[in-house]
Amino acid sequence: MPKLSDVIAALEALWPPAWAEQWDAVGLVCGDPDAEVGRVLFAVDPVREVVDEAIATGADLLVTHHPLYLRGTTTVAATGFKGRVVHTLIRNDIALHVAHTNADRADPGVSDALAEAVGLRVTGPLVPDPADPAGRRGLGRIGELPEPMSLADFARRAAAGLPATATGLRVAGDPGRPVRTVAVCGGSGDSLFDDVRRAGVDVYLTADLRHHPASEAQQAGPPALVDAAHWATEWPWCEQAARRLDEVSERHGWALRTFVSRAVTDPWTAHAQALPLDEPTTSGAPR
Ligand SMILES: [Zn+2]
Repeated sequence: MPKLSDVIAALEALWPPAWAEQWDAVGLVCGDPDAEVGRVLFAVDPVREVVDEAIATGADLLVTHHPLYLRGTTTVAATGFKGRVVHTLIRNDIALHVAHTNADRADPGVSDALAEAVGLRVTGPLVPDPADPAGRRGLGRIGELPEPMSLADFARRAAAGLPATATGLRVAGDPGRPVRTVAVCGGSGDSLFDDVRRAGVDVYLTADLRHHPASEAQQAGPPALVDAAHWATEWPWCEQAARRLDEVSERHGWALRTFVSRAVTDPWTAHAQALPLDEPTTSGAPR
């Protein structure tokens, strides 16, 4: 069995920490570099349900997309949920490693996995990384559907390709509008609206879109918007990441066993549809 330090070196070759944003916190959060690793679990969020799953899986290493600690901390006491995660991991000999914006930027990266999940042929990054002469790394991806379809059909296709969440997908734009070219960005993508508009695509699939940026983007004209659950847009990366570590493991004869978390850790747990506003009465006043 490989040592944790060997596996971490492999993960850092796939997603070099230097590719992460300045504000990010990636890499090893806890774990003994000399410990042996046989089983690895990939997940989006380092939360209690996922740690329980790691224990049940017999994992020696948990790799998550989201950091446990993004800002500095002075305590890992088990009085808070983050400290409890650290304690539970250490007590069960499970290491935690984070690949966040370095995995976003990679080729293939988080948005490639999202594009693949909804059946797009990727043509390039939405925001190319100037440090990549090949022009393949970067944030978001631009892709093409195999044939034009209505916005409503694209939304159904995206919903079918992503894991189910309570909130599902929201669509902004005429559902009958034909779409063919698509920009995607796993996670919160409303900071990339200008790039999406410049790319001239028909529709933008991302998560966490807020009223004002979405409203302004709609008023400014195409593209249409499809807003999915943040967790759902990044979960496909876990499968991609597990496959990539499997390839490394095979090359080295490590016989690692990789697993992908089935826990839905999107924070939204239910959805209720409100009734439409009534038609105005004959007096013109709403009922
Ligand atoms: Zn995210």
